[in-house]
Amino acid sequence: MAVAPSVLTVLRSQAQDPVGLLRAASAQLGSAVGVLSSFGAESALLLAFVAEADPHMPVLFLETGRHFPETLAYRAELAEALGLTNVQDIRPTQAELDARDPTGELWAFDPDACCRLRKVEPMDLASLPYAALVTGRKQAQAATRALLPVVEEKAGGQLRLNPLAHWQAEEITREMKRRGLPPHPLVAQGYPSIGCAPCTQPVGQTEDPRAGRWAGLAKTECGIHTAS
Ligand code: SF4
Repeated sequence: MAVAPSVLTVLRSQAQDPVGLLRAASAQLGSAVGVLSSFGAESALLLAFVAEADPHMPVLFLETGRHFPETLAYRAELAEALGLTNVQDIRPTQAELDARDPTGELWAFDPDACCRLRKVEPMDLASLPYAALVTGRKQAQAATRALLPVVEEKAGGQLRLNPLAHWQAEEITREMKRRGLPPHPLVAQGYPSIGCAPCTQPVGQTEDPRAGRWAGLAKTECGIHTAS
């Protein structure tokens, strides 16, 4: 679903103001705007901006069946605290799980196939109705994200809106504290970046925050953001 150039101009004019950007997206695109959230370590700030702009905006959560229990509890706590009314679980069908991961151990021997089954394909399907998807990605998270723009055009015309693209980790922590947003409970246990439980390890204070994701493998992304 391509977005008109005039809408792009309006959105780009709000690139420095996360809430302004989300309000403009909601005004311009209505129900064709959704939010991707992992309810991870830094998700609360983006979700607070979403709640301020439009608490009814759909928030898509990939329910892989492999999350830490703390993440699922945090999802419920944050949605309640922020008044988000439309958090949706996105998951593969049981038939797909039975056919492609009958033992439930696909993550251990083919994590790319596991991410495709549990994340990439369900999100591709769920994102079809949306002209724009909001993400919490930041340039500072990884070398692969160093050039991430706030308003990103994907092949096929769908937009990714990345309101926090230019934010540094310290700014996010400061703003979360200022707003009284609860941190993910695992951050205090050494997890600065949190994904599925089998594929996430705690990291040392001097390590790259994403070093604990698929540690020991060349894999650095699940694929939902690298797909066009
Ligand atoms: S992060 Fe790990 S458990 Fe989660 S979908 Fe990917 S491979 Fe599977």
